[in-house]
Amino acid sequence: DRFRESKVYMRALFDYIPLEDKATPCQEAGLPFTRGDILQVVTQDDPTWWQAKRVGDSNLRAGLIPSKQFQESYFNGQYIAGLRRSFRLSRKDRQGSAGEGSDPGDPDFMTYEEVTRYQQRPNERPRLVVLIGSLGARINELKQRVIAENPHRYAVAVPHTTRPKKPHEKDGVEYHFVTKQQFDVDTLNNKFIEHGEYKENQYGTSIEAIRSVQAKNKMCIVDVQPEALKRLRTAEFKPYVIFVKPRVPEGRRRRSAVTIYFNLLLYFVQDEDIQEMRQSAIQIDQQYGHLVDRILIKEDSVSACAELRGILERLEKESFWVPVSWVR
Ligand code: 5GP
Repeated sequence: DRFRESKVYMRALFDYIPLEDKATPCQEAGLPFTRGDILQVVTQDDPTWWQAKRVGDSNLRAGLIPSKQFQESYFNGQYIAGLRRSFRLSRKDRQGSAGEGSDPGDPDFMTYEEVTRYQQRPNERPRLVVLIGSLGARINELKQRVIAENPHRYAVAVPHTTRPKKPHEKDGVEYHFVTKQQFDVDTLNNKFIEHGEYKENQYGTSIEAIRSVQAKNKMCIVDVQPEALKRLRTAEFKPYVIFVKPRVPEGRRRRSAVTIYFNLLLYFVQDEDIQEMRQSAIQIDQQYGHLVDRILIKEDSVSACAELRGILERLEKESFWVPVSWVR
């Protein structure tokens, strides 16, 4: 029995640096990890310290990591008799970075999430693909391109709108056309995963619209604000989350003197945009990074599209880590 491999896997939702942890019984025995790492927990015998290996690590020896319970008590500020004072980051910092996407009442967010390998079987409905993008990523365009290449396999969820139907449009194809009253009722009933206003008309994507794509056995691709992830992260949809980040050029120093000289004005404008793009990516990463399965760095539309196509193909053939609650 001693030789049986542990089947318990956890996705780390925080960074751990043993050398900075005064509470550990042995710093050298600690296993450093970063948020998003998958850890195979070898033993949970001790209530405070588990032994674990990092999946994909060639190092065969297990190291010590704080147990879920211990880490929770520490994050909740109930740390044990000053044991972990030195390691304890300011709670304000953590809550600040956790932001809206976190649920402070949900300790899973803070520590570990138990995961398992999941492979979609041929008779199962395809997983939902969720694209989130930082500023400048233009994910809608990316989504449309990939779907246009392969419309029998991939589809968008048809949105609702209150704007009048144009002559060439068909209800239920481009949009579900509804009255403002209906839209408001639907909003109140939480039918939409996201909605917004454009030129005084309402637009929104419903949960039902996703279901109806999946019912046709097509892979539904949605691009949403990351806040929508909370609603979509269910066993029903098993979302695979792709974070599209535009490649942000290096800062000032890397630019040639010639460019600066000739494009002084443009230079400042661009620089501000670049700052904003960088900031937007950092913000999403801090708040939602733990929910992201894959980061796609977008150089240009053509290569990003090819990469996305590759990811979608693998999604149907290979297995991926998902929360155990999705498969039990
Ligand atoms: P149109 O009325 O020309 O079809 O769409 C105009 C704009 O409405 C789009 O460019 C987009 O900004 C917005 N829009 C379309 N569909 C949706 C949707 O599902 N949700 C949101 N929030 N906006 C949408």
